[in-house]
Amino acid sequence: MQGLMMHYPLTVPSILDYGYRVFPNKEIISILPDKTRHCYTYTDLYKRSKKLMNALQHRLHVKQGDMIGTYAWNHYQHLELYFAVPGTGAVCHTINIRLSAIQTEFIVNNAEDKAIFVDATLVPFFENLAPLFATVEAYIILNAPKDFTTSLPNAIDYEDFIADAPDDTDWVTVDENDACAMCYTSGTTGLPKGVLYSHRSSWLHAVMMSLPNYADTSAEDRILVGVPQFHVMAWGIPYAAVLCGAVLVLPSSHLHPDPFIEIIINERVNKANGVPTIWQGIYAALKKHEAIDTFLLKEFLVGGAAMPPTLINNFQNEFGIKAVQAWGMTETSPVGTLSRLQPHHASLSDQEKIKIRALQGQEVPCVEIRIVTEDGIIAPRDGKTVGEIQIKGVWVISSYFKTISHENFSADGWFKTGDVGNINEEGYLQITDRTKDLIKSGGEWISSVALEVAIMAHPKVKEASVIAIPDELWTERPLAVIVLKNAGDILSLEELDAFLLPLFAKYQLPEKLSFVHEIPKTSVGKFDKKEMRRLYADGKL
Ligand code: AMP
Repeated sequence: MQGLMMHYPLTVPSILDYGYRVFPNKEIISILPDKTRHCYTYTDLYKRSKKLMNALQHRLHVKQGDMIGTYAWNHYQHLELYFAVPGTGAVCHTINIRLSAIQTEFIVNNAEDKAIFVDATLVPFFENLAPLFATVEAYIILNAPKDFTTSLPNAIDYEDFIADAPDDTDWVTVDENDACAMCYTSGTTGLPKGVLYSHRSSWLHAVMMSLPNYADTSAEDRILVGVPQFHVMAWGIPYAAVLCGAVLVLPSSHLHPDPFIEIIINERVNKANGVPTIWQGIYAALKKHEAIDTFLLKEFLVGGAAMPPTLINNFQNEFGIKAVQAWGMTETSPVGTLSRLQPHHASLSDQEKIKIRALQGQEVPCVEIRIVTEDGIIAPRDGKTVGEIQIKGVWVISSYFKTISHENFSADGWFKTGDVGNINEEGYLQITDRTKDLIKSGGEWISSVALEVAIMAHPKVKEASVIAIPDELWTERPLAVIVLKNAGDILSLEELDAFLLPLFAKYQLPEKLSFVHEIPKTSVGKFDKKEMRRLYADGKL
């Protein structure tokens, strides 16, 4: 027998409808790229998003299923795109501004973006690439100064674009399982893969994030979004915040420690999110800061890479700020687990508490995780048995965009994360390793395989392999282990970087080179990266 409740689709624009009806005067504050402070209300967000939806429909003829790209910092116009694009039934494709030209060209053409909204400060990168984009019909420029000019074809200022559009028409009716947004994640070979979120998955993820056990978002909060809006929809915080009536603070490009701290103080921020690299910098800057007493920040969400336990400890003991670690992926919307203490942990020592908070945490509702050993056995939750982490749930990918990838899923339909770890008796996940051949530096991916292929094309190189080495600030950096063709040759880091730069973003270039006579190999002749990591740890590379 079916229940007798109404069918009420969970759609992204309905999050904004709710925020507008219940919290019309709540604020959204943006510190724009030129440092101007912009502040408006949920009512303004609602009305301008409606105008944007209308302009998309009538000026660009956007229809259901179209892809609309964004190449932008964190601010109110980007937030308007988060609601207005799904409001037309189209897909908001947030493009990572840190990728190389080759990756960006691939992503835009693979997504078949119809139009791209670009921040004025980021336009120069796009001007060279535009002729390579096969489907882009128009560029809408965000935050353009008065005298701004560009060679981008069909470029229009954002404010002009929405100026004459009405603000009172209905959102397009969509199915809750339709796509609303897309982000690309790094593939091991270097070509990114698209992850397509649905209205329903984004809605339910936002509800989960607002629960006290998880991101604990409420109308009491003033939340600084330190994760770029092009990274997994800023971890879904903007949607959760609007659903809860929180004040959103959007810092554009001002993510360096000093401006970040200034924004926290000036805007009376009490919650924030960001990758460990950001918090590492903020911790160092806070130690020298005089106005720490005026700090209202009580906790922040940290993920994207492992947060060092000492940093969790230092934030807590020196500043009384709680670092709440979360684990997840672009493919999991992103939050899969989150680490908070339980009431029965109250009697533990401070050190034991930090140990628990440094774990990646317990699975969130609507999601299940398991560990599968190398022998294909589902591991007991004993905190010891290690294997690949697999996940399934409401906001977990079922297939990559335009890609058939059976290797990413188990026979019984779980997503294989490529992360390795264990789960303890209390259900806390601990990440111990990674099977995917990728390096994560400051929250951004580097494909070791793509680097190896490019380095081996250098005329002086016979063979090369790339591994991740630990780095205090960036978490990981790439080390290239190289066999030269001629023993007498000299290859400097500068020479190799110059050779690689046309193909890679600067942050993706090797940090160090290590020259060897032979690269360690496994019994089947593959590079033995475990052995290389061991040799590096022993100071032998
Ligand atoms: P992305 O798809 O770029 O969000 O990256 C997801 C990957 O980042 C995961 O598969 C992990 O390898 C890594 N990651 C994310 N959060 C954490 C965390 N809290 N601790 C350790 N690694 C993490």
